[in-house]
Amino acid sequence: MNKICIVTGGSSGIGLAIVKAFISNDYTVYNLDIQHSTLGHFIQCDMSKVEQVQQAIAQINSQEKQVDVLISNAGIHRSASIENTSEELLDEVFAINVKGAFAATKAVLSLMKKQNQGSIIYIASDQALVGKSNSFAYNLSKHALASMAKTTALDYAKYNIRANAICPGTIETPLYHKAIDKYCAESGANKIQVHAEEAALQPLNRLGQPEEVAQYALFLASDKAPFITGSLQVIDGGYTTG
Ligand code: NAD
Repeated sequence: MNKICIVTGGSSGIGLAIVKAFISNDYTVYNLDIQHSTLGHFIQCDMSKVEQVQQAIAQINSQEKQVDVLISNAGIHRSASIENTSEELLDEVFAINVKGAFAATKAVLSLMKKQNQGSIIYIASDQALVGKSNSFAYNLSKHALASMAKTTALDYAKYNIRANAICPGTIETPLYHKAIDKYCAESGANKIQVHAEEAALQPLNRLGQPEEVAQYALFLASDKAPFITGSLQVIDGGYTTG
């Protein structure tokens, strides 16, 4: 029988690569996203709305006898220092990046407890480990996800449920391109040059690819990682060691 994996934000970038990798490895994959996708079993769901998340996961539970893996990936980035962060902006980022992950985790836990097994993976960021300027709300939200992984790991280890966070560095996805385009539009900088400078910041002198993060998630979710829980898994080309 196929294992069941729920991915949030699986219609683009890292989430899309995760959906593809898990399907290729014989998982049945459910994708909860606001943006339609033909890959996996798509469920329209705004992760910032707790009721929608609960309904989507209840729908999956009614169709499947188990949920083996939750990958909480949906997230948004907003550039702003603390002074330029309004209450609305803080709420917007937290509603998707943190509350969405909280709601999805809560919704899968009862089934995972009954099964006495499960793996929960949060796609956090290298910004859960180090600061980054002009990224106040996002940084806070990613630190919160690291904490969610650790706390959930401790509370649910007795049910054989593992929880970990993956902390990617800069990965070439639509989110990355949107951020660079915005920066270039505002500053008049040249995109090719900015892209090269971004790559040069990484010790491996390139950006990461979504498929590389997906392979990490596949490993963490699998029976090959039974003793890994509560951990922050860095995949950043060496950026945070500098
Ligand atoms: P992306 O913008 O390419 O994809 C994000 C996906 O999330 C999209 O499919 C989008 O529709 C979905 N989404 C957004 N808001 C949603 C909502 N309210 N409800 C449901 N789905 C929603 O971004 P990405 O770069 O693939 O980022 C994925 C995750 O990885 C994010 O949590 C991001 O913070 C994290 N991350 C990205 C990078 C990077 O450099 N790209 C680095 C570290 C961490």
